[in-house]
Amino acid sequence: MTPNLRIQGRDAQSNNILAGKAVASAVRTTLGPKGMDKMLVDSMGDIVITNDGATILKEMDIQHPAAKMIVEVSKTQDAEVGDGTTTVAVLSGELLSKAEELIMKGVHPTIISEGYRHAAEKCREILETITIAISPDDEAALIKIAGTAITGKGAESYKETLSALTVKAVRSIVEEEEDGFKVNVLENIKIEKRAGGSIDDSELVDGLVIDKERSHPNMPEKVENAKILLLSCPVEFRKTEMDSEIKITSPGQMQLFLDQEEKMMKEMAEKVIASGANVVFCQKGIDDMAQYYIEKAGIYAVRRVKKSDLKRLSKVTGGTIIQDLDQITTADVGTAGLVEEKEVKGGKMTYVTGCQNSKAVTVLLHGGTEHVVDSLDRALNDALHVVGVVIEDGKIVVGGGSSEIELSLRLSEYASTLKGREQLAVSKFAEALEVIPEALAENAGLDPIDMMVELRSQHEKGNKNAGLNVYTGEVVDMWENDVIEPLRIKTQAINAAMEATVMILRIDDVVASTGSANQGMGPGGLPDMPDLDMDAAY
Ligand code: ADP
Ligand code: MG
Repeated sequence: MTPNLRIQGRDAQSNNILAGKAVASAVRTTLGPKGMDKMLVDSMGDIVITNDGATILKEMDIQHPAAKMIVEVSKTQDAEVGDGTTTVAVLSGELLSKAEELIMKGVHPTIISEGYRHAAEKCREILETITIAISPDDEAALIKIAGTAITGKGAESYKETLSALTVKAVRSIVEEEEDGFKVNVLENIKIEKRAGGSIDDSELVDGLVIDKERSHPNMPEKVENAKILLLSCPVEFRKTEMDSEIKITSPGQMQLFLDQEEKMMKEMAEKVIASGANVVFCQKGIDDMAQYYIEKAGIYAVRRVKKSDLKRLSKVTGGTIIQDLDQITTADVGTAGLVEEKEVKGGKMTYVTGCQNSKAVTVLLHGGTEHVVDSLDRALNDALHVVGVVIEDGKIVVGGGSSEIELSLRLSEYASTLKGREQLAVSKFAEALEVIPEALAENAGLDPIDMMVELRSQHEKGNKNAGLNVYTGEVVDMWENDVIEPLRIKTQAINAAMEATVMILRIDDVVASTGSANQGMGPGGLPDMPDLDMDAAY
């Protein structure tokens, strides 16, 4: 088959729109607490069962350049707010679909793009008027926010424990700066997961937990006033790249060789001991002989520590990561109040606590099986982020489709004040927003038409918080039902979906370019362009 090297005009447009819509429809059924799960099977046969939009899109093997844009937007949403990843993909799909209707009627994509941009701007304004302020000290509200993010992630049965754990973890790392509170979840909260035990065995540790035990049982189990040495180099001989052999012709030579080896190991160990440290974390291996001397010196040593853990340890203890044993100085040694090995369900771990110069905490997550801990982990991740976002912004909106309906109504009122074709685009944008409550209803097995009629009429009566109770099929006050989300989820989702749609709409030519960006042809003869230059699309 000769692949098409170039697709132009209307064909390129409808092809891109189709691809974008396809991605959106792949995750649409997972939206909301009653969303279905997807089973992802990779080429090795490993499976992941989830309904987390970001995870699904990340794992899907997507080739089409336009479809990839939707995946990118969802990833960005995940990185920026940690939640709303399905919402953003579904909304993009709907915006594309509505744009297609307008294109069919002869409205130029540029006009649609401008209208969409205008609409997203207006959405931000409208949203500001329906937000509710939340104080960072309002623990009850924060727990509800965590709970909303956890709902529908296969972790409902643990919602209470997980929400409480989330809020406790996030509140312990809040930093107060001049321009308000700052929460850096990624940097300051470490999640360590263990299959074994149950969620109730999970704990929040004020410090770092490293999933490793000390390297020898004769080492102390507990070191107070720890002086910590961090090594990224091995305490053993590096294996050479080349094959080499030594010829030994007499027993004396053999002894000499062994003595020499022992001497060198002893020297290596002495360099470690000379640092004055009583705890050593090594990213690589520690030779048994060297370990013997280290253990004799009463040092707690851990080997094969993950690089990311070493970095965290460096930040928390103030120690420098050493790459060469000859470079160690006493100033490189970090400190912690206590380093100890503890027995947890499913094995032993090293706890580093009592660090003065950091806010790092670890959530030690337990669950029955690998799959359970993994889904708890994904739910916890979303929850930690949204709670962090609310502490930073102090603003929430109500969920269950409620804010989307309110936005949709207010935006279409606004559209009627506009003129010409722009009005068409803004009204379509308003219509597209309804996809969220619609999908929530569909996924809960409810009749979307009945539900939408009821929702609209409640909002027209002024019930701004009316949303869908997906469990009972009733339209209720979502604030009273504790379904609340950060404002930033919505503003970010709407804006990002608009950006992705506009970008896709403005492309009228897909060319297989030469060079590194062109790594092959995707299905349907479309060029696979992983490094598509986004700015160039404008
Ligand atoms: P996303 O990846 O976009 O966060 P989710 O599957 O988490 O997707 O679904 C989020 C949607 O579900 C939001 O619109 C939110 O308001 C809604 N939602 C969450 N909890 C409830 C609930 N208890 N009742 C109704 N809607 C809910
Ligand atoms: Mg969510």
